[in-house]
Amino acid sequence: MKIDNLVFELTQACNQSCRFCYNYWRDGSTPLPGPDPVLARKTLKKLLSQTSVGTLAFSGGEPLLIPNIHDLALYARFKGCRVNVLTNGTLLTQDAVDNFKHIGLSAIQIPILSADPAVHDTLTNLPGSWRKATAAASMVVQAMPREACSVLVITRENAPGITETLELIKKLGISQVMVNRFNLGGMGLKNKSSLTLDRDTLKKAFADTESFAAANPGIRFVSGVCTPICVMDPAPYPHIRFTWCSTDFSRRPVAVSYTGDVRFCNHSPHIIGNIHQRSISDILTDPVNIGRYATVPDHCRDCSLFPRCNGGCRAASEQVYGSFNLPDPVVEVSLLRSEATKAASAASPFPAAPEGMGVTFKEVAKGLDVL
Ligand code: SF4
Ligand code: SF4
Repeated sequence: MKIDNLVFELTQACNQSCRFCYNYWRDGSTPLPGPDPVLARKTLKKLLSQTSVGTLAFSGGEPLLIPNIHDLALYARFKGCRVNVLTNGTLLTQDAVDNFKHIGLSAIQIPILSADPAVHDTLTNLPGSWRKATAAASMVVQAMPREACSVLVITRENAPGITETLELIKKLGISQVMVNRFNLGGMGLKNKSSLTLDRDTLKKAFADTESFAAANPGIRFVSGVCTPICVMDPAPYPHIRFTWCSTDFSRRPVAVSYTGDVRFCNHSPHIIGNIHQRSISDILTDPVNIGRYATVPDHCRDCSLFPRCNGGCRAASEQVYGSFNLPDPVVEVSLLRSEATKAASAASPFPAAPEGMGVTFKEVAKGLDVL
C-alpha cells in the first residue's frame, strides 16, 4: 500500500506550551513522556518496511527534541520519501539547517504568529520564542529559500495585526505561507474563550490575507485547516488555496506516532491501530476503521457542498464532542457567535457528546459567553 501523505509524530514532548496547540495529549492533565529516539527510529523503520510514503512530515510535539532527527530524515529520504519538518523553530541551529539542506528536505515549516514579539510569545507561552523563530526562519531562507515555509495560526488575539505579520513574513524572504484558522482541540480547548474567532473576525482576517496575497504574487498562500463552507465561503479569497481533507485513507494525511499508534490525522485523538501489532495496510483497510470515517453528519446530509467540505475538520469534532459523526464545532460556535442574540438560549440542534467524552458544545459555547 502506498500512502501519499503521512505525519510522523516523533515525540509528544515540546519546549513550548502554545495556547492554541491542537495536540490531543496537551490538555495539561498528565505529564508528557520525554523524547524516545530509540523507539522513534524503530517505529519509523517498521513503518517504511510496511509501506511506501510519498511525503512524510516530521512533527510532534517538537521534532527537534529528537537528537537523531537528521538520521531519521536521511533514512526516510533513502526510502524515497519527500521529507518535511514542522518545527517551532526555537531549537533550530545553523548546523541543523545545513544538515537538512544536504539531506534534501522538501520543506521546513516555522510558525510566525505576529509581527509583535509580545503577541507571538503570549500565544506560545514561551518568552523569547518570537526572536528565536524569526531568526530560525531567516536561517532557513538563507540556506533553503524555496523550502522555507511559515505557518500563521489565526486566533482572536493575533487576527487584528495579520497584515503586519504578513509584511514581516515577506521581509524575512519566505515565499510559502500556511494560514490556518485556530482549530479547537488540545490546549486550545482550555483557551477557547480568548482564542476562538467569531465568523466576522475570521472573514476579515482572510480578507486581509487575500488583499496581501493579491499584491504579492510571489508568495503562495494555503489554508490547511478544513473550514466548513457554511462558516466561510472561500470564493472571495481566490489568491488563497483552501484545502479540505478527504475521509478516504488513501487520499488523506494519516498520522503515526513514534509509538506506532495510527490515527485519522494529527488532529484526531482516536487511535485506530498500532503498526507494531498490525501492518498499516491492514489498519487502513479495516472495514471498521473505514466505516467509522465514512459517516455523514445529519447536519450535512442535504448539503450539496458535502463532497467538497466533508463537514469541516471532524477530527475537531472528535476532540470536542467525542464523535466523528458531527460537523466541525466551528459550525455551531461561529454561527451562534454571529447570531448570538438569536441563538442565545436555543437548544443545541446537535446531540450532547457521549458521557465522559470530550466537552459538549454547550460547554464550548458557555466558555465563549454565547449561551
Ligand atoms: S503547537 Fe507545536 S510548538 Fe506549540 S506546543 Fe504544540 S507541538 Fe509545541
Ligand atoms: S457539508 Fe456541512 S459543514 Fe460543510 S457547508 Fe455543508 S452543512 Fe456546512
